[in-house]
Amino acid sequence: MILTLSLSAALLANPMPIVQHEDQKPFNCTRCDAWNEHVEPHLLAANTWYVGSKGLASVLIVDKKGLVLIDGGLPQSAELILDNVRNAGFDPAEIRWILNSHAHFDHAGGIAALARITGAQVAAGRDGVFALTKGPYHPEDPQAGFGERVRFPSLSHVHAVDDGDVITVGSTTITAVDSSGHAPGGMSWRWKSCRDDVCRDVVYLDSLNPVSTDDYRFSDHPKIVEALRAATERLAALPCDVAMAAHPDQLPEAPNATTTRCAAYADQARENLRKRLEKERKPAVVL
Ligand SMILES: [Zn+2]
Repeated sequence: MILTLSLSAALLANPMPIVQHEDQKPFNCTRCDAWNEHVEPHLLAANTWYVGSKGLASVLIVDKKGLVLIDGGLPQSAELILDNVRNAGFDPAEIRWILNSHAHFDHAGGIAALARITGAQVAAGRDGVFALTKGPYHPEDPQAGFGERVRFPSLSHVHAVDDGDVITVGSTTITAVDSSGHAPGGMSWRWKSCRDDVCRDVVYLDSLNPVSTDDYRFSDHPKIVEALRAATERLAALPCDVAMAAHPDQLPEAPNATTTRCAAYADQARENLRKRLEKERKPAVVL
């Protein structure tokens, strides 16, 4: 009799078994565990919280009429991001939009779970929609050669945006800035954060690194190189009081008071591309 009672009490205390949904199955990569380490949510600007993990950014933009989340980390980041949203004092069910920087497993992997749980709509650069809805990567992606290894949970519907398009929630307007090159359809996002009539320009910077599979040469793809160069100059010129990058550890400090962090990020991107093209120019060793 006592046993029956205590079992019932245990069932009442824990009525539902914890089931991990298919779209939250952990992605396996060498850096995934380090990237997915927990950090406390913290304010970046008056209306902007950092709610991502240690190595993969997610930010929450707050308006009285609803919330906007940028990026969803890995599939296994979804719970961590939701916990950070709650710990910052917000209800994930108030997230109206989830925006993506680029459609790779480490920034879009958790978006399917986050969209399912919150009911939010998803928006991404037009050429990112293929990887988000069909996968694995866009055929023109420098990392497309990784094939099925980089597949992440798919979404059924994504709103396609182009450079300059805006997402509006209440009095907050978030503008898409074309940043394709690292991945087709890559987007940076910018908005204003205001308090007491003082407004600051906030920018979420997409990746600009020339990363590829071993057999890919950027020099064979002038359109991709051109896109990377154009994105770099676009980001360098943005008003930029507060910056965050999709990979926070790739965002340098501004070297002086007259250089923005967006411009410092662009300087670094120019140098990375220069080095990559130089390496590709070296003649192959013929034995
Ligand atoms: Zn990427």
